[in-house]
Amino acid sequence: MNTARSEAWFARAQSRIPGGVNSPVRAFKAVGGAPRFIARGQGSRLFDIDGNAYIDYVGSWGPLILGHGHAAVSEAVRAALEDGTSFGAPTEREVELAELIAQIMPSMEMSRLVNSGTEATMSALRLARGFTGRELTVKFEGCYHGHVDSLLVKAGSGMATLGIADTAGVPAGFAASTIALPFNSVAAAEQAFQRHGGKIACVIVEPVAGNMGCVPPLPGFLEALRELTARHGALLIFDEVMTGFRLGLGGAQQRFGIRPDLTTLGKIIGGGLPLAAYGGRADVMKRVAPLGPVYQAGTLSGNPLAVAAGLAALRYLRDHPEIYGELERRAAQLCACPPPQVTVNRAGSMFTFFFTGRPVTDWESARQCDTERFARFFHHLLERGVYLPPSQFEAGFVSAAHSEEDIRRTVEAAREFFEAAAPPPSNP
Ligand SMILES: *Cc1c(COP(=O)(O)O)cnc(C)c1O
Repeated sequence: MNTARSEAWFARAQSRIPGGVNSPVRAFKAVGGAPRFIARGQGSRLFDIDGNAYIDYVGSWGPLILGHGHAAVSEAVRAALEDGTSFGAPTEREVELAELIAQIMPSMEMSRLVNSGTEATMSALRLARGFTGRELTVKFEGCYHGHVDSLLVKAGSGMATLGIADTAGVPAGFAASTIALPFNSVAAAEQAFQRHGGKIACVIVEPVAGNMGCVPPLPGFLEALRELTARHGALLIFDEVMTGFRLGLGGAQQRFGIRPDLTTLGKIIGGGLPLAAYGGRADVMKRVAPLGPVYQAGTLSGNPLAVAAGLAALRYLRDHPEIYGELERRAAQLCACPPPQVTVNRAGSMFTFFFTGRPVTDWESARQCDTERFARFFHHLLERGVYLPPSQFEAGFVSAAHSEEDIRRTVEAAREFFEAAAPPPSNP
C-alpha cells in the first residue's frame, strides 16, 4: 500500500499543527505509523490522498451512522446553504429539532443546541450546579465527557490512549470538585453518596461507555445511579453524545428504560456537522438564561447548516427504524470472528476487540489489554483496507452503509491475523 503522500503531508503538518492533527487520537501515536490523510468518503468507504480505499469503522468517531455522504443529509445541507450560513437569530428548524428530540427522547422536555459534545457536558454540569446549589460532580474512570476542565480526571478517549492520567492545566480546585469512581461499581457510588451526599450536584455517566473501548453497564448499575441521585437530590446526567440515536433511536435511556434528569447529545445529532445539545427536565432547563440565572450562550449555536444536517439525519433514522435491526445483525456478524483470547464487547453497533482473555467491565480491566498486539492487529487490517479506530481504547462503529460484503471482507482479514497468531495445530 503506497502512503507516500499521507506521510509527506503529515511531516509538513507537524511544524504548524501540534502533532500534525486537530484532535490527539488522529495522530496514530498509540499504534505507530503516519495517519492517512483523507480525500473523501462515500458510503462505508474512506479514500486517502494516495488513492487507497478503506472500509471505515470509525465513522468520524460516531456521527456517521448513515455512512459518508448520505443523500438525505447532503441534500439538506445543500438546500440550507442557498439561504445563508449563519444568522445569530432564531430559525424554524431549531424549533423542529427541539420538538423532534423531545419526541424521540421524552426525558428531553427542553433542550439547548451547542456546537460540540464538550460544550454540552460543560453546560449541563454548570446547570446541575446552578440548579442544586452544590459543587461536586461524580464521574467514572475511563469515561470521557469532552475536554471540560473538571471532567478531565481519569478520563478515557485520547487521555487513555496516550496514557495521560490527569492533564496539565487544570486548576487543582476544578479537579477537586470531581469524584472519579470505577465504572460499574454500585458499591463505590453508594459509598460516595454516603460520604458526600449533600454536596453532590450530579452524576455524569456514559450509559454504555465508549471511550475506554466499548464497556456496557452491568445489570443494575444504571438503575442504582438513578435511585441514588433521586434519593440524595442530585441530578443524573446521561452523556449520550456517543450512544444517542446509536443504540437505538432513543439511545441508551430507551434501551435500558431509565429516565435521566439531563442528557447530552452530540455526534449523530449533527449528521456529520458540528452540532450538540443538552436538555432534560423542563424545571431544570428553565434555570438557563435568559429564563434563569445559569448563563450559557454561543455565536454559532443552532447553526443553520448543522441543524439542517442533523434534522435530516434524525428524520431519516426515525422514518427507517429497520436500520437498527440491520446494524445489530451486521455488528454481531463482525464480532463473531475473534478467538477466545480476545474479549469482544458490543452494544448495538458499537464494538471493541479487547486484546485480553478476561472480561472488560471497567477501566482497570480495560487497561490490562495487550496494546502492542492491538497495534499489530490495527495495522494488519489497515494494510488490507479496513480502518479501525487507531486505539485499543476507542469504540468502532458499524453504519447503515456497511454491506454484507464489507463485513465478510473485514472478518476474512481479521481471521487471517488471528490464525497466523494462533499456536500451530498439534500433529495427529
Ligand atoms: C465524543 C464525546 C464527547 C465530546 O464531544 P466533542 O464533540 O468531541 O466535544 C463527550 N462525551 C462523549 C460520551 C463522547 O463520546
